Amino acid sequence: MFQTRRSASGGGGGRLIIGIIIAVISLISYFASQSYNPVTGENQYLSLTPEQEIALGLQSAPQMIQEFGGLHPDDAAQSAVNEIGSRLINTDIVQGTPWRFSFSVLDDPETVNAFALPGGPTFITSALLNELETEDEVAGVMAHEIVHVLARHSAQQIATNDLTNGLIGAVGVASGDAGAAQTAAVIGQLISMRYGREDEIQSDTLGVCLMIDAGYDPNAMIEVMRVLEAAGGGSGGLDWFSTHPSPDNRVARIEETIANADSVCPS
Ligand SMILES: [Zn+2]
Repeated sequence: MFQTRRSASGGGGGRLIIGIIIAVISLISYFASQSYNPVTGENQYLSLTPEQEIALGLQSAPQMIQEFGGLHPDDAAQSAVNEIGSRLINTDIVQGTPWRFSFSVLDDPETVNAFALPGGPTFITSALLNELETEDEVAGVMAHEIVHVLARHSAQQIATNDLTNGLIGAVGVASGDAGAAQTAAVIGQLISMRYGREDEIQSDTLGVCLMIDAGYDPNAMIEVMRVLEAAGGGSGGLDWFSTHPSPDNRVARIEETIANADSVCPS
């Protein structure tokens, strides 16, 4: 097949060389984009700068809000969640990071879920909020989502899912219909983005560290897992289990982190 195409076009050799040059250039830029993440202690290969990540999150937030029933009209609920979020980010682990967090309740009584967009906008649905009984449990959910931002999990997904080209266009000043359509497509992918199991474990365990740092009871994270498990599979669509694959031994890993927080949590 390749041979046939080559002889038909005649210029295949030249294109092959150009292809190799492009591949080499993208490999170089891939390795040049390595960045150290002080929160996770890992080197990451990312195609977005923190500034681009923040811009993308801000740009996606309105569509996210619209998708899940708008912002919840209860001001008391909004400020309670905002206070919990603020306490979690006013910690040694989060201070000094470039992210711009915001915390909002979505007016969706059906979908039991919470989300963090790249760069910091963080959301919890009223359906999930209703299932939680204590402030510590709400803090558990928020801490888990905050770690997705700190660990740059969505930027990692974007880099590995080859969404980068679309994103660069979307994050840059999108003008005209093509820009808007591209942005909408990218945001659609962000909203339904699934993280890997390792990312979920990391969000649970570093989330525990964040809770301890903020003075919350980390055992509430275990209760959160029970609540999510009990609510699982109810609403289909975009509930927690469609966007958060549940790793085995999740509770065991949380218990392990609580028991060894002094040695495993970043100081
Ligand atoms: Zn998660």
